[in-house]
Amino acid sequence: MAMQPEVGVPDFVLLDNLTTDTFIQNLQLRFQHNKIYTYIGEVLVSVNPYKNLDIYSMQHMAQYRGREMFEVTPHVYAVADACQRVLRQQGKDTCVLISGESGSGKTEASKFIMKYIAANTTQVHRDYIDRVKNVLIQSNSILETFGNAKTNRNGNSSRFGKYMDIHFDYKGDPVGGHISNYLLEKSRVVSLQPGERNFHAFYQLLSTNNATTKKYGLSSSAVYQILGNERATAQDSKLFNQTNSAFTALGFTNSVLDDIWSIVAGVILLGELTFTESQDGQLVMGGPVKQCTSALGVSEQALRSSMAGRVLSAGGDLVNKEHSLMDANYTRLALAKAAYDRLFTWIVQQINKAIDVPSGTYKSTLIGVLDIYGFEIFETNSFEQFCINYCNEKLQQLFIELVLKQEQEEYAREGIQWTPIQYFNNRVICELVDAPHQGLIAIMDEACLNPTKISDKQLLEAMDRRLNGHKHYTSRQLAPTDKKLKHGVDFRITHYAGDVTYAITGFMDKNKDSLWQDLKRLLHSSQNASLADMWPEGGTHIQKTSKRPPSAATLFRNSMSALVTGLQSKEPFYVRCVKPNPYQAPTNWDDQLVRHQVAYLGLVENVRVRRAGFASRQRYDRFLKRYKMLSQYTWPNFRGNSDKDAVMVLLRDLHVTDVQFGHTKLFIRSAKTLHGLEAARAEL
Ligand code: ATP
Ligand code: MG
Repeated sequence: MAMQPEVGVPDFVLLDNLTTDTFIQNLQLRFQHNKIYTYIGEVLVSVNPYKNLDIYSMQHMAQYRGREMFEVTPHVYAVADACQRVLRQQGKDTCVLISGESGSGKTEASKFIMKYIAANTTQVHRDYIDRVKNVLIQSNSILETFGNAKTNRNGNSSRFGKYMDIHFDYKGDPVGGHISNYLLEKSRVVSLQPGERNFHAFYQLLSTNNATTKKYGLSSSAVYQILGNERATAQDSKLFNQTNSAFTALGFTNSVLDDIWSIVAGVILLGELTFTESQDGQLVMGGPVKQCTSALGVSEQALRSSMAGRVLSAGGDLVNKEHSLMDANYTRLALAKAAYDRLFTWIVQQINKAIDVPSGTYKSTLIGVLDIYGFEIFETNSFEQFCINYCNEKLQQLFIELVLKQEQEEYAREGIQWTPIQYFNNRVICELVDAPHQGLIAIMDEACLNPTKISDKQLLEAMDRRLNGHKHYTSRQLAPTDKKLKHGVDFRITHYAGDVTYAITGFMDKNKDSLWQDLKRLLHSSQNASLADMWPEGGTHIQKTSKRPPSAATLFRNSMSALVTGLQSKEPFYVRCVKPNPYQAPTNWDDQLVRHQVAYLGLVENVRVRRAGFASRQRYDRFLKRYKMLSQYTWPNFRGNSDKDAVMVLLRDLHVTDVQFGHTKLFIRSAKTLHGLEAARAEL
């Protein structure tokens, strides 16, 4: 396969006169020529092409196998290969951190990486390894069915965070894996923005033939509340089959599959139930009650009573307290959300069982792939965006620390002098959110624990009192002239990626994330064995007061901190995804949108740090391999002791002086020098 000539520079460190403008020009030029990948050293910048490019075939994979990143045109496969090489040659755990905003191509990148890793094994036709490879790939389609949805930004948007570890044996072949899922956007189950869809799973189920939908108490022609204005399509039907074969490949039995789709149907039907008040003030449940109870495997009586009221234990006695009409409806939707959310997590757990490394199998190293929601700024931003954006702050913090630390360590190791580049350190924003006692999460938790009911508005007041004067926090109360903030409703965080205004409405509820014990008992009592298994805590005795579980924000903070700790111990590779336009279109380039992303991803600073006075650094052996033909003293062979000596002789012969010789690497100061060497090579 002939290599296409490069367009622009394949590595931003080669740019003369680095500015945001020249950076973006190079990115755009390459994008227009379908060169969607460009490096910043070992960081890969990827622009979503929004069309299928013929660059992912097995033949393309073969081009990257065992090759150095600079030898071949930039590609996500090169990152995957580098990862596997570090793992095989140095026995180190590695990870690929994929970031970028919604629709920038993170999930696609993560799939290409997994595809490459699965294909790049040392032995073919080992049944066990083949199974693992298959399972790793198939698990994606299940996760996407249950965790992705069409949003206004992306037709297949991941509405959860995903981190996947792939374990390798000593030969470097995959032997298993583990998926961690983070915070599914469960509010989507019961409320949709105009133009958006609910999770794909719902439409896939409804796209099936009438017999199947009927079996689950549904009808393909009916209109269902929680599905908004969207209908199932032929594509959904195709994907339904794909999802089911993936389940089967992972060892899910037909009866478990039946359980899963029943729960999906049950959630749709919960959305159809109604409550009305009878003359004597009783709540009456209406709508497709029979279908719903049958889908959820519970009795009508149990379903009604657990949604229309709750059982309280008062001084040892059990008393039944009826909800108001509003509370009953609220409880109904809370049940739908919780059932779906738990279903998703349970499916991930089952997948993990299927791909777990069997005990006794030797596992030596692993590659982690992180595909997590990008920074989000919507019309209205709520608790979910607050968590998602906090997650991005944490990852940006890690990026800053690792990139800076690595560079610094390298200079120190090689005995090179360096002056650090100034960077905006977003640590202060992470602490605004997660500091003990004074951080936003701590203030929210305190309000949630308060025995008297605290309203969202009161929570905002508490935040204002405690964070008055913080450079990255404000509200209308603190900035009375700021008309963009609604009084008593909005607060604003100045994130590293820009200002985001959050509406406090719903924060208390979403953070408490409590579900009445009655509902847990209901689901645990289900005839649907899988559903019952998902709710073990529903089995505890009613009078046993259980400790209040940690709040949603605290759980999320803890999972982020565990994630970051895990990532810190691995050799990181980065893929920074950029979205070229907001229309999901292949030809459009929105300069402002790109500029914003380049700014907040810190890409230009990344190049500066990478160069920090040096455009490039290369190991002596690799440098020699590439350029030795430029001098009679080194071509075909150098008569001397070390590669370092050879490089010194070579460069003296070429009159190159703007370099420093580290212990194992050559550091080249200007990009021009590197261009010159490349040009000389091309002329031969
Ligand atoms: P989100 O945060 O919403 O999950 P994302 O960053 O994961 O977004 P993807 O789902 O990976 O975005 O990409 C969005 C769409 O863009 C894909 O469904 C696909 O149509 C297209 N796309 C992304 N990357 C590529 C690629 N390398 N080649 C062709 N199409 C791509
Ligand atoms: Mg995604």
